Amino acid sequence: MSKSKMFKQNVMTYMGFESDFESSEAVVFGAPFDGTTSFRPGTRFGPAAMRQEFEGLETYSPYLDMDLEEFSLFDAGDLDLPFGAKMKSLDMIYDQTKAILSAGKVPIMVGGEHLVSYAPIKATHEKYDDLVVLHFDAHADLRSDYMEEAYSHATVMRRVWDLVGDHRIYQFGIRSGLRDEFAFANKHTILEKFSADTLEDLVKTLAKTPVYVTIDLDVLDPSIFPGTGTPEPGGLSFKDMMKVVDLLSHLNIVGADVVELAPHYDNSGASTAAACKVLRELTLAILKG
Ligand code: MN
Ligand code: MN
Repeated sequence: MSKSKMFKQNVMTYMGFESDFESSEAVVFGAPFDGTTSFRPGTRFGPAAMRQEFEGLETYSPYLDMDLEEFSLFDAGDLDLPFGAKMKSLDMIYDQTKAILSAGKVPIMVGGEHLVSYAPIKATHEKYDDLVVLHFDAHADLRSDYMEEAYSHATVMRRVWDLVGDHRIYQFGIRSGLRDEFAFANKHTILEKFSADTLEDLVKTLAKTPVYVTIDLDVLDPSIFPGTGTPEPGGLSFKDMMKVVDLLSHLNIVGADVVELAPHYDNSGASTAAACKVLRELTLAILKG
């Protein structure tokens, strides 16, 4: 064996994301930030835990009959975010997403807490002004502020609404929030409580509309996904989630993220495995669309 074969750089990537940047169709990157987490912190460890756990998955999906290895995918690693400096972190994530979009590739971000989604949605909306945002979450995330802070994981969809305006945000699985947030949703977003049953009809109407998908993994029931900062009983089953991803595969997804895994709250590792499987299926759904 030649020396060049014996020795390769010891860099772990999400399995199946082994292409180089130039030839890739989609680029995954981690945004390990949890500076505004309102209850239990720990989502900063999400991207690295998932990169490790991903090794235990197959690249082939029996759900979509597709294989990650059939595509060119690049793992850009985790951003080196300054903890505590949320606006600077958002700027860095925005720049990264902007660069991926400018190169004609689809950005896929792994959080981190949900506030990080603001940055890629802003960048994506600048490229596609008719962008529609599909938001899966236990929480409405529509507070105007949280403890007088405008930027928080509890306000992120309100800040997204500031960008995209009325009736461009579709929310699914929502089962927690202030009465005010639900009243706001009644006027300004399209919100389905508890489930994602209306997605099927929505998919038919969206056709080629550019779509951003943000999945706060706490939309899943804590019985299958306890590894998160604010678990909320009464969520989607994993089977429900696979149905969601199948429906998403018919859409023109131009950006996506998976956020709010806090791996250390589930020592079994099952939550991390669930997060990886959602990431795999979401990636394939993007590539199919
Ligand atoms: Mn959220
Ligand atoms: Mn949530």
